[in-house]
Amino acid sequence: MALVSLITGDGIGPEIADAAKRCVEATGADIQWDIVEAGSAVMEKCGSPLPQETIDSVLRNKVALKAPVTTPVGTGFRSINVHLRQSLDLYACVRPCKSRKGIESRYDDVDIVVVRENTEGLYAGVEFKEGEKETVELIDWLNAHNSKQIAKDSGISIKPLSIEGTERIVRYAFEYAKKNNRKKVTSVHKANIMKFSDGLWLEVSRRVAKDYPEIEFDDLIVDNMCQQLVMDPSRYDILVMPNLYGDIVSDLCAGLIGGPGVAQGANIGEKGAVFEATHGSAPTIAGQNIANPIALIFSAVMMLEHLEMREEAAKLEKGCNLVLAEGKSLTPDLAKDSSLAKGTKEMADAIIEKIKSL
Ligand code: NAD
Repeated sequence: MALVSLITGDGIGPEIADAAKRCVEATGADIQWDIVEAGSAVMEKCGSPLPQETIDSVLRNKVALKAPVTTPVGTGFRSINVHLRQSLDLYACVRPCKSRKGIESRYDDVDIVVVRENTEGLYAGVEFKEGEKETVELIDWLNAHNSKQIAKDSGISIKPLSIEGTERIVRYAFEYAKKNNRKKVTSVHKANIMKFSDGLWLEVSRRVAKDYPEIEFDDLIVDNMCQQLVMDPSRYDILVMPNLYGDIVSDLCAGLIGGPGVAQGANIGEKGAVFEATHGSAPTIAGQNIANPIALIFSAVMMLEHLEMREEAAKLEKGCNLVLAEGKSLTPDLAKDSSLAKGTKEMADAIIEKIKSL
């Protein structure tokens, strides 16, 4: 039996978490849920949108299925998601983007996995506010040590990329390729401009690639990558990249398969793994039984694979694919005829029915 933390989130979180939980249970997966909270509702109770109890639950169980949470604005709390990733050192963000029959999109042959470094780069959270004493001191120091002068009224965000951090994420991408029988890894960067951060990234990528001669390796500059993906995504397999590029390119790839509402994801590290949809808490449609649960359910497929429950994962994915292809029990965002759209609960019921029939 596996113990899994279920973070129910806020906004549409509780509705889609319930749908995903019921679908996972229908596969017969031997899972006991540890239901924990994060987000605005628990903030009122505990004074924090991410209680220590929730972090401890994930550290204890090492696996979590997480529904989206709203980032509180103007409370002094940074993003709960960033906080969770940093607290648990979930360094690898894995976002498979695959075309599926029944989901309208520009292409029908996308099968890309974006592997994003989650802890370093421009999202490391090392920032200096314009006008503050430390910022002025930093600018003075930088100006004294560099011929390129920074304006005194600048705000500064630091972009650290380390050998260790780069090596572990690039190695993760190659190991993922090996385990999942994928053929090619592309390292994405901007080494032509940022020679000491992205340049180091590229150098380390090339070095790690030598350990995996059976897997094809190439690299591409991030702007060219975006253009190539929009023109012909079928040429790409696994893409590995630093934090900011990963955030942007994974949304681009989600757009290629029908939008973030259908894109699954996982944040993985040595201490734990958190599986979650790409989309947010969609507060404007919360509580109306119209949110699409499919991205969280596909994230649960990844979770079952991670738990080595391969048969159950295959059943869950097949159940979802059958319901999508049939097109009769889809939420309004997916339904071709909106007058025939179904609710979150009804879509989950249809998936469960398919799973039971397998
Ligand atoms: P969002 O993804 O919540 O919504 C964007 C649009 O997509 C909205 O129109 C929404 O109604 C729609 N949408 C999203 N998910 C849907 C679903 N499952 N079914 C149907 N429609 C769906 O993005 P946002 O509005 O920028 O963010 C809202 C909140 O979510 C913010 O506080 C943001 O910080 C947070 N957020 C959380 C996560 C996470 O928890 N992993 C990720 C992204 C954003």
